[in-house]
Amino acid sequence: MDTPLISLRGIGRTYHNGDIATTVLQDIDLDIQAGEFVAIMGASGSGKSTLMNILGCLDRPSCGDYLFAGESVERLHKDQLAELRRRTFGFIFQSYNLIGSASARENVEVPAIYAGLPRQQRQQRAAQLLGDLGLGERLGNRPSQLSGGQQQRVSVARALMNDGQVILADEPTGALDSQSGRDVLELLKKLHAQGKTIIVITHDRDVAAHAERLIELRDGRIIADTRRSPEPVAAPAEPQAPAPERSTQPLQDLLEAVRMAWRALRSNLFRTALTLLGIVIGVASVVVMLALGNGARQEVVDRISSMGSNLLLVRPGAPNTRRSMDGSTNTLSLSDVNVAADIANVVVAVPEMNGRVTLRSGNTDYQTQVTATSPDLPLARNWPVAQGVFIAEQDNQSHAAVTVIGRTVANNLFGDSDPLGHYLLINNVPFQVIGVMSEKGAAPWGGDQDDVVFVPLNTGSLRLIGQRHLNSITVMIDNLSLAEQTQEAVRQAILLNHAGVEDFQIRNMASLLENVSQTQNTFTILLGSIAAISLLVGGIGVMNIMLVNVTERTREIGIRMATGARTGNILQQFIVEAVVVSALGGALGVLAGLGFAWLLQALGTPMVFTLGPVLLAFGCAFATGLVFGFMPARKAAHLDPVVALNAD
Ligand code: ADP
Ligand code: MG
Repeated sequence: MDTPLISLRGIGRTYHNGDIATTVLQDIDLDIQAGEFVAIMGASGSGKSTLMNILGCLDRPSCGDYLFAGESVERLHKDQLAELRRRTFGFIFQSYNLIGSASARENVEVPAIYAGLPRQQRQQRAAQLLGDLGLGERLGNRPSQLSGGQQQRVSVARALMNDGQVILADEPTGALDSQSGRDVLELLKKLHAQGKTIIVITHDRDVAAHAERLIELRDGRIIADTRRSPEPVAAPAEPQAPAPERSTQPLQDLLEAVRMAWRALRSNLFRTALTLLGIVIGVASVVVMLALGNGARQEVVDRISSMGSNLLLVRPGAPNTRRSMDGSTNTLSLSDVNVAADIANVVVAVPEMNGRVTLRSGNTDYQTQVTATSPDLPLARNWPVAQGVFIAEQDNQSHAAVTVIGRTVANNLFGDSDPLGHYLLINNVPFQVIGVMSEKGAAPWGGDQDDVVFVPLNTGSLRLIGQRHLNSITVMIDNLSLAEQTQEAVRQAILLNHAGVEDFQIRNMASLLENVSQTQNTFTILLGSIAAISLLVGGIGVMNIMLVNVTERTREIGIRMATGARTGNILQQFIVEAVVVSALGGALGVLAGLGFAWLLQALGTPMVFTLGPVLLAFGCAFATGLVFGFMPARKAAHLDPVVALNAD
């Protein structure tokens, strides 16, 4: 006699629930030849389904040997069992076990997905099988849109999809009306006639009467094994090697997984939308916050740069001490200006002396700042006069009472009328307005730069401010690449002038720029971190939803495993679902963020858009999906097929 297709020797199955061990099957010896039609009967709870699950490699026996086509199944690991299921067995269940979110055709396609059949062939074959079973019009229907008999025919088609040689049916007619039951039975007989091995569990004597062989179980043991004289079988029942499996292509696999994920997500639209929202808010806030932070920094940098990056600022007071604001540090003098002006690469050195003054024109009193300076200020500060002229050297020498006023002062004292030639009182001294500065705007450190009046240095020193020392010297240099050396040369020269006492400090705009820009960076990072936290919260939302997903779809996972999904397929499916949510959320979040930032910009907030934050936020969202999707996915992949199938 040939090697039996299936051979069980001394098979037993014991369940352990805590300390309680329940033996459900014992001492099962059973040989089934290829092409047989076997019915298994027994009372409820006698162990029929348990035996079926072992036969179909969904479950492992606790003891005994299972040889399939002469090969021991015992030593096969999980994915090899999955392969055996995929290639050899087709399952039909009492409760159909169709995936609710998938159409009839998609349900039938499932086993072929895991066998790596290309999409088009798969769809064709599924449609063909369903057509043969009279469901040609129902390809797109969900299980809930089909009658019980139709659903069972879909599951028959699924069992046939990979052309496995053994059909395992666990009470296939149990839930059907008698006509549908007879139809399914006819189908099984037809398949048997085509050479398939059929093993069917049934309660129904009539169903069993169609089988060639009847096995009866009681309390986990075989109590009878009777053969009827075998009906002549059309096709010779010889064991056939399973069709060679196509090697699967990773890219196609992935595409398939994305498609499945999309379908699963779409079937629970509201929940998906809520999960998306979390990610969208996280990503959008990262994009907006970074644009805002960068915008603020850019603005400060621009303001400082507008003052000229080619300036050195000499201030009184020892280095690394805070500049004294009350002017009590009286260490800078006009001779320092002359010394600095003589250094090579220095264009001009401009003295400045500051004080608060009260202006009066007509009946208007006005408090502002006065700066006593030299004619070179407009050049050094890159700040031209708009009307009239600036202070000339003669004005200085003759202690002329002339003034050049800032735009704000002009507006406040003279309104729309022309200030040129008018007199105003500065601290009760009459000065003639000879010029109006162009508008300069806000200072980097805040304050209005246009709220100022300029007077000749000597005039200011003598008649307004009453001091001889300077508040600062602005040194303009020519060749920026020599800035470092020039700064050092200026330092040495002034040091010499001060008899070696370093009671002044020199800063250059470039280093100031760097300082400020660093402060702003910290600010941006802070904003970014706050946004990143909301992204993290979004990620936890994804994990939460995926966990619920896995719990809810445990049965689907069982179905996929029964039809031959590998551990990796399940893992991939759930990770891909999480990543699809996150990537979608990331993309929407980027759009929302850019939109919102653009709106803010339109409303006048400085914004800087760079690719970096956008990529960063999207990448984070993507990674979040990957990381937070992994745990639920792993949970799904490690489910036991039988447990998953029987979940409710
Ligand atoms: P049948 O299909 O013949 O009705 P089953 O094979 O489903 O019977 O179950 C046989 C016995 O095993 C039943 O008494 C059932 O309660 C028990 N059983 C099934 N699964 C488990 C399990 N996971 N843990 C403990 N007992 C189980
Ligand atoms: Mg059962």
